[in-house]
Amino acid sequence: MSRLHKIISELEEISTHPGRAVRKQMEKTGKKAVGCFPYYTPEEIIYAAGMLPVGMWGGQSEIKQADTYLQSFCCSIMRENLEQGMSGVYDMLSAVIIPTYCDTLKCVCENWKVAVPQIKTIPMVYPQNRATSAGVAYMTDEYRRVIKELEAMTGAEITETELLKSIALYEGYRRTIRKFVAISGHYPKTLNARVRHAVIKAGFFCDKKNYSTMIGELLSELKKVPSEKSEGIRVVLTGILAEPDALLDLFDENGVTIVADDLAQESRQFRTSVDMGENALEMLAYRYAIQECSLLYDEAKRRGTLLKDLVKDNRADGVVIVMMKFCDPEEFDYPIYKKELEEEGIPMLYLEIEQKMDSVEQLRTRIQAFTEMVMHKSLFYNGKENDDVHGY
Ligand code: SF4
Repeated sequence: MSRLHKIISELEEISTHPGRAVRKQMEKTGKKAVGCFPYYTPEEIIYAAGMLPVGMWGGQSEIKQADTYLQSFCCSIMRENLEQGMSGVYDMLSAVIIPTYCDTLKCVCENWKVAVPQIKTIPMVYPQNRATSAGVAYMTDEYRRVIKELEAMTGAEITETELLKSIALYEGYRRTIRKFVAISGHYPKTLNARVRHAVIKAGFFCDKKNYSTMIGELLSELKKVPSEKSEGIRVVLTGILAEPDALLDLFDENGVTIVADDLAQESRQFRTSVDMGENALEMLAYRYAIQECSLLYDEAKRRGTLLKDLVKDNRADGVVIVMMKFCDPEEFDYPIYKKELEEEGIPMLYLEIEQKMDSVEQLRTRIQAFTEMVMHKSLFYNGKENDDVHGY
């Protein structure tokens, strides 16, 4: 097995067996771990506290106990998180930080305290008007409160120096994974939809220092091999996440290459950099203030423009909307950007998903039909190769 494929296989293993990966790192480093509910939980603060931040992005287990607390019309990610918390999957965590962006997260935060009492809950409330001075001040106060809670757990102060070091490390991680995202479309076979997803997702279960090193090495290995020709169509994904793997396999089967994404689990996590702030907490608050996501209030409704730019910059043939069932924030955005993409003549495919799906046959038919339609029209892009593959 080549070094390239070995790194990919290690990252796939982490992504498929996150519990095992996290426990292994805890044993090796002696660090405590803190669970980070989606979205934009301040991992940098947890890292600066000397603990391991662990992403909590649901799963595919059967829901049995979580139904006691959450109705079946809540999104599958939160039902899964609660189910796994109640069944002891997360018992290695010392605490979980739960932001309260949407109605479901608000409920889960309260439910978790009762349903999973063995794991400490640290709620986080984010300001709606985040790009104002009051929003930044509020955010830094919230971070300070979280810091106090984490300090009480470790008995050690989280210093400004440690916070700045952690922010620098996370900025390095973001730069590295952005390079991977930029190049993945040039390797539609080696980095097919399933692999691309696994490589990115593994980052939620690793120490970001080690993960960045692995991704850096992966990029170096990719430079040694020629880019690959895509046989079908090029798309931009938008939504919360693109799972289960059976869905990703359908993209691969139908020659659909993901050339960019606007997914909360993927690029939305790392596309924004820290660019101002007088101190560490302000730097985090300002970064948060300029992030774009359906979860974060945006008066200007820029998602349509962002998607149009992603299509244009990546010479994509269309946009695939992976709509998480029962996700209000994503559903609210949809009519607005749909109209804008239609006006631009950008082909769209709307797929309703859940993390665990008994059958993907309906999705298969829709993806096949979309691919055939787009290939037939061949509206935007006729060439399929880019010579400047490593010019990111
Ligand atoms: S934003 Fe959507 S997917 Fe995420 S927790 Fe809320 S309802 Fe669920």
